[in-house]
Amino acid sequence: MIDQFGRTIDYMRISVTDLCNLRCKYCMPEPFDWLSHSEILSYEEILRIAQAAIRLGITHFKVTGGEPLVRKDIVQFIGRLRALPGCKAVTLTTNGVLLGELAQPLKQAGLDAVNISLDTPDADRYAQISGVDALPKVMQGIDAALDAGLKTKLNCVLLQDTKDQVVALAELAEHRPLDVRFIELMPIGEGMQGGGFSPQQARACLLQRWPDLHPINEQRGYGPARYEASEKLMGRIGWIDAVSHGFCEQCNRVRLTCTGQLKPCLCYESGTDLRALIRSGAGEETLYKALQQAIYKKPSAHCFAQQDEITENRIMAQIGG
Ligand code: SAM
Ligand code: SF4
Repeated sequence: MIDQFGRTIDYMRISVTDLCNLRCKYCMPEPFDWLSHSEILSYEEILRIAQAAIRLGITHFKVTGGEPLVRKDIVQFIGRLRALPGCKAVTLTTNGVLLGELAQPLKQAGLDAVNISLDTPDADRYAQISGVDALPKVMQGIDAALDAGLKTKLNCVLLQDTKDQVVALAELAEHRPLDVRFIELMPIGEGMQGGGFSPQQARACLLQRWPDLHPINEQRGYGPARYEASEKLMGRIGWIDAVSHGFCEQCNRVRLTCTGQLKPCLCYESGTDLRALIRSGAGEETLYKALQQAIYKKPSAHCFAQQDEITENRIMAQIGG
C-alpha cells in the first residue's frame, strides 16, 4: 500500500522471538529480562497478521529475532508463511549458528534467501564479540546455505573493535557467490554507546586491496543496500549506511515485533498493539483496518542524526533489527 508520503510499503520484518544463543556486545546487554512465553505472538497470530498485510500489498517478509532459528518449529512456520496466497518471498536473518542443520529443510520449506550475521572471520575475535565460541558452526552454516541453493548474504556490523577485519570479511566473497554487506552501527539499544567504524573508512581499506571496486546499479534484494563489484570478487560488496546515508525516502518496510507491535519506523518506540487487538477477539476486517492505519501514518524519516529525538529504548533483539 501507499503511505501518507507516497512510499510503497510492501515489505515486513517479522520478529519471532527475543531469545538468542549469542550475546553480541553491541546488541544484547547482560543481564537481560527475557519476555515470557505468553507475551510472544503464537505462529497462528503472526500468520493472521501476515494475511492482513498481504491484503494490503505486503508481499515480502523477513523472519528475524532475537535468533529466529532457536524458536521451536521455525521451519514449519516459514513454510506456512511462504505458502500464504499472495506471498512472493520469505527471507531470514540469522546468526548462522544453527544453519548447518537447518539450511536444507528451510530451502525445502520455501525459504527464498538468507542473511547471515558475521562481524569477524577470526575465531577468537568472534568469541569476544558474540560471547560464544561458535565461529566453526557459523562457517558450516554459510556453506550449508550455499550448498542448499539459498541466495546468501553476510551482514557485518562495522565496529571499531573489528576495523582490521573488513578485508578478511570481504575476502569471503572472493571464491563464493556470497554478497558481503557492511552495516553502519545504529544508535539503538547497546549501539547507543557508540563504537562504530565509518563506512567511508571501511571502503578505503577495501580499495587498498581491490582498487577496481566500483559502484554497480544492481537490485540484489529488497532492501536499501548499495552494491559494488570488483573483477577479483565473485560476490558483491554491499553498504547499508542508514545513519550517514539515510534512505527514508525509499523506505518500503514496517516491522512486527515478537510481542505483536506493528512498528512503522526503527527510531521511534510507538506502534500499534496488534496482539491486544487479536487477543480481544478482533475479526479480520478490524485487523486489516488497524494495519492499514498504522502503515499509512508511517513517519517520514528516522532521527538517527538527532539522537535526543530517538524514543526507541528496546534493544535490536527485541525489535528484530
Ligand atoms: N540474530 C539474528 C542475527 O544476528 O542476524 C537476527 C536478529 S539481529 C537483531 C539482526 C541484525 O541486526 C544483525 O545483523 C545484527 O548484527 C544487527 N544489529 C544489532 N544491533 C545493531 C545495531 N545497533 N546497529 C546495526 N545493526 C545491528
Ligand atoms: Fe543475537 Fe543477533 Fe543480537 Fe547477536 S545480533 S545478540 S545474534 S540477536
